Amino acid sequence: MKKLVLASNNAKKMKELNALLAPLGFEVIPQGILGIPEAEEPHCTFVENALAKARHAAKISGLPALADDSGLCVAALGGAPGVYSARYAGEPKSDVRNNEKLFADLAGHPDRRAHFVSVLVLVRHADDPQPLIAEGEWHGEILPAQRGEGGFGYDPLFFVPEFGLTAAELDAETKNRVSHRGQAMQQLIARLPAL
Ligand code: IMP
Repeated sequence: MKKLVLASNNAKKMKELNALLAPLGFEVIPQGILGIPEAEEPHCTFVENALAKARHAAKISGLPALADDSGLCVAALGGAPGVYSARYAGEPKSDVRNNEKLFADLAGHPDRRAHFVSVLVLVRHADDPQPLIAEGEWHGEILPAQRGEGGFGYDPLFFVPEFGLTAAELDAETKNRVSHRGQAMQQLIARLPAL
């Protein structure tokens, strides 16, 4: 098995990635197990933040590392909350307050278009000059009221016209397949055997 450090302590992401990468001969190790602290995410783009997280984990562990950065970009808000999605309504981070703020910011606005973005970055080592980068986008509309119990974050507000459902109403298997993160993972996996 080839070891790969995951620059995240998110148990859901861990499980999803393990299921996809184990058949390809990769053992995914969460950085927390190795005592690696979370990296800073000071940048204004998803790709820079994901790269910073991956490099940080590779540098400390001496192993190849995979990181992701994701968020929601709302057209009428010039792409906000974007890289600030997790903390849109400030600290401590709260999905409930983030969703309330998004409602308020979009109140009465006719343009409800939005998309989720996920960027995955894999570095073979900390100074890798050519990281593998994959990016997925998932397009939808922000509803004026929440619907559904599944998922997390902005899912109850994110309506997907293709299914006539919000992301929180989709079953987990479908969401994982079609979402921004699912698309980015599929792209990355297609390129992994070349590692
Ligand atoms: P992170 O990349 O895990 O830090 O996610 C950033 C933030 O973007 C999350 O805290 C959510 O607010 C939002 N987000 C990212 N992906 C999703 C998703 O699939 N559904 C809902 N919200 C998401």
